[in-house]
Amino acid sequence: MKPIPLTHVWQYTDVDRAFWDERLADWLPERIIDAHVHVLNPALCLEPMTDEKRRQHWVAEVAEPLEAEVLCRCDRVVFPGRDVSHVAFGWPDPAFDVEAANEYARRESLQRGWHALALLRPQWSAERVAAELDKPGVIGVKPYYAMIGSDLKTRDRYIEAGIFEFLPHHALEVLNDRRAWVTLHVPKADRLGHPDNLREIREIRRRYPDVVLMIAHFGRCYTESHAREGLLPLADDAGIYFDNSAVLNPVVHRIALETFGPGRIIYGTDNPVLYMRGRRQWHDRTYVNRTNVDFHFNTDRESPEIEAGYTLYMYEALAAICQACEQAGIGRDGVEAIFAGNAQRLIDSVGPDR
Ligand SMILES: [Zn+2]
Repeated sequence: MKPIPLTHVWQYTDVDRAFWDERLADWLPERIIDAHVHVLNPALCLEPMTDEKRRQHWVAEVAEPLEAEVLCRCDRVVFPGRDVSHVAFGWPDPAFDVEAANEYARRESLQRGWHALALLRPQWSAERVAAELDKPGVIGVKPYYAMIGSDLKTRDRYIEAGIFEFLPHHALEVLNDRRAWVTLHVPKADRLGHPDNLREIREIRRRYPDVVLMIAHFGRCYTESHAREGLLPLADDAGIYFDNSAVLNPVVHRIALETFGPGRIIYGTDNPVLYMRGRRQWHDRTYVNRTNVDFHFNTDRESPEIEAGYTLYMYEALAAICQACEQAGIGRDGVEAIFAGNAQRLIDSVGPDR
């Protein structure tokens, strides 16, 4: 097979097709809702990516804006024969025209039967948040700490912020009234298990119980230690949901399944990031991203033989979910819930008069 271009430097190759055929094709459900994907028109970039920023965080190097029509084309390649839809949103970075990025994600989603989240500017008034939620196709918001302010040098200037600094109470009041969906990427180097995060998430649940609260990337718990610290304390609140996007570690998926069951876990890719080719390895509380491209961060390459066997990160993530489901004894109903049923139920629950 001739390699099929995906996006940025990534291509779909025979290795990927074989991985799909052997590991995924018979297991993955017919219907897939990818509830965490970033779509963006590159023309909406206000401040071009700098080399300094690229060196600062690996995501800045692997993520190029993904247009909705390219995403559609990629869906057909990476999920052959599947019925795929998305909960889509822009790139949460004030270096882009945020209002135009929201309109792009909304319009493109609406015409494809997907749903959109609006990137939330913490500076918006309650009325401005309400106006965003009034727009057809928008089911909620995507807050992010980098939206507190622009910094060309680093995306992590505000990583130690409190959740309410970028998801303010006046916005949460509107979101609660509308029973809106909130995909929350938690701050702090210590990830979900940081006591401030756990306390603030419980406060959101207590004060704004009708918000559909979706913790992104299992709270950024990519290692076993982080998963135990972050996920176990939230076991008992059945109203907290998690998207499993960008998590390649089967141990984390298994801990999440054993802690929450399949009813609180929602599939997501975090594409375009997860079109990356390679594999991730974990050491204690850190991880290393392996890939076969000459990125700044990719200084410690594996052998050519090993690199030749790399598949897409999103396939590694799917194989990890599959392995964890088998280990945790999750049946077909549970698998279908993770990949579409849970997201559909939550999408259907959004809106004021229920
Ligand atoms: Zn993301």
